[in-house]
Amino acid sequence: MAERTLRLYDTMTRQLKPLELIEPGCLTFYSCGPTVYSYAHIGNFRTFLTADLVIRTAEAIGWKVKYVSNITDVGHLTQDDVADAGGEDKMARALKSKEGEQFHNVWELAEYYEDAFLEDWRRLNLRDPMVRPRATQHMREQIVAAEELIKQGNAYETPTGVYFNVESFPGYGKLSGNTQDNLRKAVREAVVVDDNKKEQADFALWKKDDKHLMQWYSPFGWGFPGWHLECSVMARMYLGDTLDLHAGGEDLIFPHHECEIAQSEALTGKPFSNHWIHTRFLQVNGEKMSKSLGNFYTVRLLLEKGADPLAIRYALISGIYTKPLNFTDQSLSDAMGNIERFKRSDAAVAAAIEGGSDGPDAIGEQLDDLYEQALDAMTNDLNTSVALAKALEGTRVILRETDLSKASGESGKRYLDQINALLGIVRHERPLDCGQVEAPGPKVDEARIAGLIEERAAAKKAKDFARADQIRKDLDAEGIELRDSPDGTTWHLKTAL
Ligand SMILES: [Zn+2]
Repeated sequence: MAERTLRLYDTMTRQLKPLELIEPGCLTFYSCGPTVYSYAHIGNFRTFLTADLVIRTAEAIGWKVKYVSNITDVGHLTQDDVADAGGEDKMARALKSKEGEQFHNVWELAEYYEDAFLEDWRRLNLRDPMVRPRATQHMREQIVAAEELIKQGNAYETPTGVYFNVESFPGYGKLSGNTQDNLRKAVREAVVVDDNKKEQADFALWKKDDKHLMQWYSPFGWGFPGWHLECSVMARMYLGDTLDLHAGGEDLIFPHHECEIAQSEALTGKPFSNHWIHTRFLQVNGEKMSKSLGNFYTVRLLLEKGADPLAIRYALISGIYTKPLNFTDQSLSDAMGNIERFKRSDAAVAAAIEGGSDGPDAIGEQLDDLYEQALDAMTNDLNTSVALAKALEGTRVILRETDLSKASGESGKRYLDQINALLGIVRHERPLDCGQVEAPGPKVDEARIAGLIEERAAAKKAKDFARADQIRKDLDAEGIELRDSPDGTTWHLKTAL
């Protein structure tokens, strides 16, 4: 096998280029995690899945991965589309909301939503990071960083906080194109106007606030850190001054990542990350997700509607991360069908290994080719559409064999294991915690359905079309859809979104 590399579109240089590792064979990777004030929605998970696919692909080409993804539990304010955000802390606002009534305090709320997030994370079969640091656990380091930046002349203190002076960092704007000149124009409409700031584009490293629900004592008095500071500090602490790769959703390019770069590079004098990737937005049924449109989907909501967690994963990775993705009822329903093919293939190869004939391996070579093609696609900017198509082609190869030999079964298993390691769509890699193995969807009696499908096939053969049709209608009324294909009849839970 030729030496492979992983090529990704770099937001900074605006080109597709191979990842170049500082330490050969070992990728250092930081991806911004969620703010735990509510359930993460499937658009958030699309971004986390991109990071997951980077890790899987890197491992498939033989790299080790040092992966860090944080939990934001303080300091993320509501008006987060400007560098120096105003508004309320998202955590505090959540506590005051209707859903917040069940919590005694903001710490309890953070813990609850972090647990919920991790549960969804496992259901979608995401790889765990090496560390998952929390902002509130790295207060000392953030305060030290703010002090250091003041000492170096990159930040200054005012009666309201400590601000990073964007003028002091000439590279400001290099990631997003929001240079100081552009920003000066833009901030006229910006939210936090503070006469104590040197430039209105300057952003907070520390907010002085002795009324805030979560506050710490610092040399600048009681308060809390600005949202951008945590990632600079935690990335450096766990991965070093310069990362190989930094990832996030496209909404983080500005201000969050632009500010991270300014803070980190001002602190260390070195490049913060050699490569940047950003996942584009997710739409649901052609529209931006919003609670008022009723298309605000969380993982748990889709599970309640009967979706298989692996099918949610499949649908979310079905489009390439550099393009917006439209998640639809149809794409989820197609994903359910495809996941079932992987499960059937998995069962077929297990049965062949157990009790197959001693014949030759009839499928190994073809499957190896398909895996190599899927891996090639993934190393080329995570081309999931091609990779998934190749992966599915493999199930066709397995399922069309009516009598799999033991040797074919072994090859099939090796293929499915490799595909699962690369794409995570065949089976969960580790048991789900807390008895959550089963999705809380409708329970179905698979044996009964299989019996009815057989009865329907027999009725059709006997030209009793009325009976055959009745069986289909009855199952349909129970939310079970039958699909006929040359391979036979399969059944699917209708997702009824
Ligand atoms: Zn971040």
